[in-house]
Amino acid sequence: MTFELPKLPYRADALEPFLSKQTLETHHGKHHRGYIDKLNKLIDGTEYQDLSLHEIVVAAKEKGDTGIFNNAAQSLNHGFLWESMSPDGGVAPVGPLGDAIDAAFGSIEGFKDAFKTKAVSQFGSGWVWLVVDAGRLAIVQTGNADTPIQRGLQPILTLDVWEHAYYLDYKNDRGGYVDSFLSDRVNWAFAAQNYESAKAAA
Ligand code: MN
Repeated sequence: MTFELPKLPYRADALEPFLSKQTLETHHGKHHRGYIDKLNKLIDGTEYQDLSLHEIVVAAKEKGDTGIFNNAAQSLNHGFLWESMSPDGGVAPVGPLGDAIDAAFGSIEGFKDAFKTKAVSQFGSGWVWLVVDAGRLAIVQTGNADTPIQRGLQPILTLDVWEHAYYLDYKNDRGGYVDSFLSDRVNWAFAAQNYESAKAAA
């Protein structure tokens, strides 16, 4: 199987002023494309070549195939990232996800504070995630290419906190980047779908 770079689900300038067109074009067209291209080269002719991205992530982690793991996980994480952001974000979630956020974090503001704290305190490159862990919502950090999938957690929403995700627009102000995401660029409809799938699978 040859993996292809998924299209952005919106125009490259659609998330401005949260993220500039230049940032999204570079992040999607150079970084994400680079992971996919490297993965395709690494798995060609190997036991991994007919597996799904998810299967490659799990198998390569188990076997310690670091190069394949890193490129597969980053391919998966970035596909999930583009869906986690939206030009139409900002309206707080209602329904089952809204109720679960209130139960886990007290309120949407409590969720935002907790998410920002984890995003800012991730040392170096990595990701912050809203996940379902044993039926409950939780916020977790992963370093470098690591993904909650390898720990058996179900991702609901993510934000990339590698410097390449925000440095052109925010320089070293990761907190400003996270605030802008949380205030009006979260794809709550995507998060709600993921939450409902996670609950249905439980
Ligand atoms: Mn990235």
